[in-house]
Amino acid sequence: MARIPEAELERLKREVSLVRLIQSQGHQLQKRGKDWVMCCVFHDESTPSLSVSDEKNLYHCFGCGAAGSVIDWVMKTQGVSLPHAVQLLRNDAPLENTEKVGVTRSHARHLPSLAASSSASAVSAVEDAALLRSVAEFYHANLKQSPEALAYLVSRGLNHPELVEHFQLGYANKTLTYRLPAGHTLAGRQMRQQLQSLGVLRSTGHEHLNGCLVVPVLGLEDGAQPEQSGRVMQLYGRRMQPNNKIPANQPRHMYLATPLRGVWNEAALRASREVILCESLIDAMTFWCAGFRNVISAYGVNGFLKTIGRP
Ligand SMILES: [Zn+2]
Repeated sequence: MARIPEAELERLKREVSLVRLIQSQGHQLQKRGKDWVMCCVFHDESTPSLSVSDEKNLYHCFGCGAAGSVIDWVMKTQGVSLPHAVQLLRNDAPLENTEKVGVTRSHARHLPSLAASSSASAVSAVEDAALLRSVAEFYHANLKQSPEALAYLVSRGLNHPELVEHFQLGYANKTLTYRLPAGHTLAGRQMRQQLQSLGVLRSTGHEHLNGCLVVPVLGLEDGAQPEQSGRVMQLYGRRMQPNNKIPANQPRHMYLATPLRGVWNEAALRASREVILCESLIDAMTFWCAGFRNVISAYGVNGFLKTIGRP
């Protein structure tokens, strides 16, 4: 994606009212002096310490130090990359508009963190992306605390700390649903529906990738396809079993039941003129650990589309 001109960023920061944007997300702001205050959305608190300046069009939390412009606000509350935040704000801030504008509700809902409730009836692509990222982050945190998952990495020669961090490797072990709002509540039902549509949960309510090492396929922040930038495109699951004894009727390789998109380690396509294309992700990661950083994998050899990597 082309670099966003500085003038465009400055214009959005100036023209899109942060106060109106925050209000359009359903937050309550109270007037205090010439500024506004609210309970911070970036840390837990019961007395408001997040201050929003109408004059400067900036926010600052005295509790956790979160601070920034209208662009930072959209990136952090929606869990999107800079190009996406600009896109969202641009859609609601036409150049000709001389009036300060806010982002409409359809574009600015609460970040659907796993514990948060979402009252929206329609689910936007932005929310889907943020939720899938939350799931990947949850699995990643899980892996680092799970001796059995770490032992599996050792057994496959993949216990490379840099690999685990850089590619956000994760582990699905039936604990995701404990982190959701209760199933009998509206918020709980909506979030389960959303996770089902993303393929994370099955119609039975079970986690699709249960018992798997989870490898996210991530879109580059500055990738060839802007709509993929910084996103979790897919989750690959490799079933792990002690001694690799996987019952014959269970698949070893799994993906979410959504389109197979993206390429693992897309950065290699940018950095190298020659790449090693591996059929399996495990092989690709083995190469990576052995020092071959120009390695990619794209859903088997048939998954490598001609368009991948084209600017
Ligand atoms: Zn805060």
